[in-house]
Amino acid sequence: MSDREKIAEHLRFFEELGVEGISRDPDWSVRAVDRLVVQKSPEQSDVAALVGQEGSVPADLGQGFSVKEPESKATYSETIAVDSAGPRAQSDRDVSVFEQVRVPSTVSANEALDLIRKQLGDCTRCKLHTGRTTLVYGTGKPDADLMFVGEAPGRDEDRDGVPFVGRAGQLLTKIIESIGLKREDVYIANVIKCRPPDNRNPEPDEVRTCEPFLFAQIDAIQPRVVVALGSFAFRTLLREDRTPISKARGRVYNYRGAKLIPTFHPAFLLRSPNRKRDVWEDMKKVREILRGE
Ligand code: SF4
Repeated sequence: MSDREKIAEHLRFFEELGVEGISRDPDWSVRAVDRLVVQKSPEQSDVAALVGQEGSVPADLGQGFSVKEPESKATYSETIAVDSAGPRAQSDRDVSVFEQVRVPSTVSANEALDLIRKQLGDCTRCKLHTGRTTLVYGTGKPDADLMFVGEAPGRDEDRDGVPFVGRAGQLLTKIIESIGLKREDVYIANVIKCRPPDNRNPEPDEVRTCEPFLFAQIDAIQPRVVVALGSFAFRTLLREDRTPISKARGRVYNYRGAKLIPTFHPAFLLRSPNRKRDVWEDMKKVREILRGE
């Protein structure tokens, strides 16, 4: 690993802990409160009742996802309703406000995903296209109930054209299997479809350019639960600028007709295995919602 890559890794690590990165873009200095309005929903009391309902944690969920001693109590205590005024309020596929993403509402999820991929094409809309090997669109079940959203492709993903195929991807597979599902049962995508150089954080203009395609994917799939993997995915989906994933997780957010669960990125878990317990709590919550509990 080069020095540049090591520095990038360290910055990612600190960002997961809530330490802000450095950017010259003035957008990064806008406070979250200017963009996000949250309020407690009527479902709050239902969710509060879920705290501590399932105390037993598997002693071992596999080599890459083992849970030992609990280090914190489950923290699910409220549902946050996100005010999605503006472009994100549009969930009907054929009224997309994103000029470049138009999908008729009459087509199946599979056809919708194909159409979105065609509209992406050999995308050169942002500067990241110059360094990519392969555009990484997304993979999985087109009408999945559960969707995972990560940040951006890494080296392995850029090579294979599939999201989450490296070590972090293997851990994500174990996380999915921990709630009785297979990778093929879910849909996995990233906010950004092309690998940033040296795995640096995507820049705001790149996010703005690429995110409409992710939103179109979510609207095509119409999952019941979206899991945001890491701070970056959480902030992009909820238009949040400040909240680190460590503070965002433990809550259920209403988002584009789905429940959104933020949790730690698998790459972070590889560096901080003591946070697997938290991810297990988050995945139990996902399972409860999918079961209609
Ligand atoms: S990151 Fe997204 S917007 Fe930028 S070139 Fe790749 S697909 Fe296009």
